[in-house]
Amino acid sequence: MFILEGSDNTTMYLVEGTEKALLIDTGTRIKNLDTFVSQITKKPVMVVITHAHGDHAGNIKYFPEIWMHPADTVLLPKEYKGKINFVNEGDIFDLGEIQIEVSHMPGHTPGSIVLLDRKAGVCYSGDAFGANHVWLQLKPLSPMQTYVNSCQKMEKLMDGGITKVYCGHYVYVKKPYDKSYITAMRELGEDIINNTAPEAKPYSPKRGCANPMFVTNGPATIVFDPDHLNRKKE
Ligand SMILES: [Zn+2]
Ligand SMILES: [Zn+2]
Repeated sequence: MFILEGSDNTTMYLVEGTEKALLIDTGTRIKNLDTFVSQITKKPVMVVITHAHGDHAGNIKYFPEIWMHPADTVLLPKEYKGKINFVNEGDIFDLGEIQIEVSHMPGHTPGSIVLLDRKAGVCYSGDAFGANHVWLQLKPLSPMQTYVNSCQKMEKLMDGGITKVYCGHYVYVKKPYDKSYITAMRELGEDIINNTAPEAKPYSPKRGCANPMFVTNGPATIVFDPDHLNRKKE
């Protein structure tokens, strides 16, 4: 597996099997990314985006087709002229001796997916669980419970053999996450829902909603819109 980093703290992963290679995410602005990738692998390259934010889908224009979750179509750059293939839970990219499996993890965006290499015990998570902090304040907003459910699902996968989670902004972390990070995220999400989290503080930059707030629990920080909490007690 190759870790490719853009100059603006974006990360792409290139996984090469015996037959094909899979490029996971495309960064923001990397001129001729296709040429760059073809210098690393001679195998035919398939391109999957973990979600359709610009820092992950920014260079899809260099590729004739992409794979993505249908729930993120609303976020996709409109000018993309290539073929869009939809993936969903359990779909597999067979690269030859390496199989990469799709798992849907909504929250950060409605169509966020993670890519699992079960044999290697590795997960490529995009922004589904963020990079030390997760942005849940961007439109279209998902309920906090949706994010908590995704964390729970990831914890189960990590009980089942996934040990390393490589996020979509690796430069901030410089190592894969283990389960303790996902658990801290899930507990913090639950605390926000139950109104038992530490006091939230204003977050900047003000991206997404009008007044984003954030709370921290050990290694995990959640940025959220306090006006769209769907708290149990409300
Ligand atoms: Zn994102
Ligand atoms: Zn991102």
